[in-house]
Amino acid sequence: MADEDLFGAERHAMVERQIRARGIDDPALLDALREVPRHCFVEEKLRHLAYRDRPLPIGEGQTISQPYIVALMIDAADIRPDDRVLEVGAGSGYATAILARLAREVVAIERHEALANETRDRLVSLQIANVDLRCGDGSLGVPDRAPFDVIIVSASGPDVPPSLIDQLAPGGRLIMPVGSQQWSQSLILLVKAADGAIHREELCGVQFVPLVGAEGHRP
Ligand code: SAM
Repeated sequence: MADEDLFGAERHAMVERQIRARGIDDPALLDALREVPRHCFVEEKLRHLAYRDRPLPIGEGQTISQPYIVALMIDAADIRPDDRVLEVGAGSGYATAILARLAREVVAIERHEALANETRDRLVSLQIANVDLRCGDGSLGVPDRAPFDVIIVSASGPDVPPSLIDQLAPGGRLIMPVGSQQWSQSLILLVKAADGAIHREELCGVQFVPLVGAEGHRP
């Protein structure tokens, strides 16, 4: 079987068994997960594991998140086609690529320069044009591109950074793992009402690599 046929079949099985079977049924999100070639976001030697129900290493001690967790976070953010999204912790760019299919524009920021450069090249080679990929400390957000309708933080901090709350538009949604324990955090959904009031909800327990930065964990 040709590579793309093989990976296409694995990708469809991933969506059915890992995502839909766990209750995520948004058609646009499921289509995006069926279309984005996850095997292109990991090293060649790990491609055969790309559609497994687990995170994988991407270099620099970082990981591409488990597919279900990517889907859960994006589903909770309730992305609309006209939204502008900030993703903090772009890593391999996999979640960035899914977000780019669902939203008008994605600004993504990654702290490790090597990962940011690789991810920028990968997104170009996949012809994903509505992403502005930055390298820097995303715990401070990207103030020159704010406000954002959605902010997704793919790394865990001691609490939600005040800079990110400031950069959330009225009506905006922020999803982030929060906790002081290295291997156990809570996934938080924070909604900013039209009048600026903040509603905060705990969705579930998760395990993420740390958000390292001025408003995250100290390096
Ligand atoms: N969504 C990513 C993917 O699909 O590959 C998962 C990324 S990984 C779980 C979290 C990423 O956050 C890592 O690449 C890490 O370097 C990055 N990170 C940690 N602290 C950061 C910060 N302050 N600013 C930007 N990126 C940060």
